[in-house]
Amino acid sequence: MKKFILALLFTCLVFAQDQKTTLSADEALDKLVKGNQHWVENKLQFIHQNSSIRYKTAKEGQHPFATILTCSDSRVSPELIFDQGVGDLFVIRVAGNVVDTDELASIEYGVEHLETPVLLVLGHSGCGAVTAAYKSWKHKTEDTHSNIPELLHKIEPAIKKSYKEHPDLGEKSLIDASVSANVRMVIDNILKMSEGTKKKVLAGKLKVVGAVYNTYHGHINWLFTPDDVLKILRKGNQHWSSDKMQHPHHSIDLRHIQAVEGQLPIFTIITCSDSRVIPELIFDQGVGDAFVIRVAGNILGGDELASIEYGVKHLQTPLLLVLGHSSCGAVTAALDHVQHPDHEQHGNIPKLISKIEPAVREAQKDLKKGENLLDKSIVVNVRTTHKQIIEKSEAARKQIAEGRLKIVSAVYNIETGKVEWLDD
Ligand SMILES: [Zn+2]
Ligand SMILES: [Zn+2]
Repeated sequence: MKKFILALLFTCLVFAQDQKTTLSADEALDKLVKGNQHWVENKLQFIHQNSSIRYKTAKEGQHPFATILTCSDSRVSPELIFDQGVGDLFVIRVAGNVVDTDELASIEYGVEHLETPVLLVLGHSGCGAVTAAYKSWKHKTEDTHSNIPELLHKIEPAIKKSYKEHPDLGEKSLIDASVSANVRMVIDNILKMSEGTKKKVLAGKLKVVGAVYNTYHGHINWLFTPDDVLKILRKGNQHWSSDKMQHPHHSIDLRHIQAVEGQLPIFTIITCSDSRVIPELIFDQGVGDAFVIRVAGNILGGDELASIEYGVKHLQTPLLLVLGHSSCGAVTAALDHVQHPDHEQHGNIPKLISKIEPAVREAQKDLKKGENLLDKSIVVNVRTTHKQIIEKSEAARKQIAEGRLKIVSAVYNIETGKVEWLDD
């Protein structure tokens, strides 16, 4: 009997050692986002910071839910920034969050052996390593008596890239841009140099995300991919269409931060002026999330295109959404004019309507049995704007070619509240 109990105990212990986090990548990220909110709002919960978690993790082993590569900077402590404790995060820290063999091996231990569903590469504002790399590149100076230049050389490609993309930026802004570029470059390098990490990503078992921590305000700016943003918008639209709004990013604190720090929207959208088509509500977003262009019939003129380029090139939003909507008055007017050219129109309206008419004619030509001409015209009009953006904007084409921008088309149903994604 004693032997049996001992064997059972042993099995339990081995099982406990092997137990991994049960969180999905989205849940793990959500935990980081919420923890950072506590930190920003000065409401730390100090979870997992007592003797019982120490005993538990010593006995059962660690089961962290995220692997984090960040800077050695004494202000950038992941456990504080994300309000986590003992056994929660597997952390690699090195000046400038660069990667080489030791960091890669540690990352592989985190994502392959401990099986964390998330790998976060976290840069930060005012990074001394990135600043030093910028200065040594700019002034061509080098401290030949230390190991530091070798580390700085790893950051230099990010600085050159930022300078090439934004040659007119001042020193501070260029260093800020280089911090983000360095995070992106490090992620690319990890995926190139670590076969195991890449395999995990391809198998859908690991999500790699980049972010920049603001050392003054304490908040995290996530460097989302186009697909990440699309996922956020789909989820937000589910909230809206099912009356389960979460109203994120509505706080006074956040308004204050964005007034000082500037905006960092996650998507650019061109949609209609219609008072029922409110992007921030349709996608359950808040202040600073959406860079919005609205004009009757979501058509593309010079001002709209320039505004779109500001969003995708200057603000670097990874997603551009072209959104039409059901029962659009502008498309209805264009349809009416195509069918009854003798109906009189006044002021500047005919000029706008004439831009939608080609879409109506195209829809008319391809109309199949059972299809509604207005609905079809709305879809063709959205696709036309989408096509024109690609044709006319070199900046957008460049961002797309580099995998940093996706343009998607959709139609919003003003009655159900649901967005129909045209490329699904
Ligand atoms: Zn740093
Ligand atoms: Zn409309």
